[in-house]
Amino acid sequence: MSVNPDTPAPIPDLADLIVHLARLGQSTAATRLTAAQWMALRFFARASRLSRTPSAFSCYHATTRGTASQTVKSLVEMGLLARQSHATDGRSTILDVTEAGHAMLRRDPLEDLRHVLARLDPEAHAALATALGHAVSDLAHLRDVPVFGTCVDCAHCQHDAEGNVCLQSQAYLSQGDMAAICVEFRPAPTAAQS
Ligand code: SF4
Repeated sequence: MSVNPDTPAPIPDLADLIVHLARLGQSTAATRLTAAQWMALRFFARASRLSRTPSAFSCYHATTRGTASQTVKSLVEMGLLARQSHATDGRSTILDVTEAGHAMLRRDPLEDLRHVLARLDPEAHAALATALGHAVSDLAHLRDVPVFGTCVDCAHCQHDAEGNVCLQSQAYLSQGDMAAICVEFRPAPTAAQS
């Protein structure tokens, strides 16, 4: 049987492809952490100080607070996360990645996926990043959960003579702050929306 060259190629189910890519990328067979523990360790390494809480992680990971707390507890017991009291709220806890946690992250199974994606041509890479960013934002809206993002695309981020400032916390932002994912993030309106 021959294929009619005029027949358009079937369009792949993108949702299925994305889920498969994610599962393959974070395959943890060769590591001692589960996929959820890796997700938590990455989150706490990248989150802003105010976002390094079990409840912010439960929103980010789209899981219950109980499940998120169990994951965090297991990482604390392994010495990969350490608890600190919140500077202004003694009842809350901030989680920091320990040196052992950072050493573990250098063996992150997601590195293989990062290398594969880094080989895409720059235009395709940028287009994919934009498209996936929009999809994450739309899905979070549909699920009524917060969208996480960084200061670069945040409506609360302003620039003045002193540098970048967060209007939400009324604090100037360091380069590290600018790259951190934040639970207070609010997407800045696009040129088409403003
Ligand atoms: S500017 Fe936005 S993303 Fe950055 S710290 Fe403030 S609220 Fe968070």
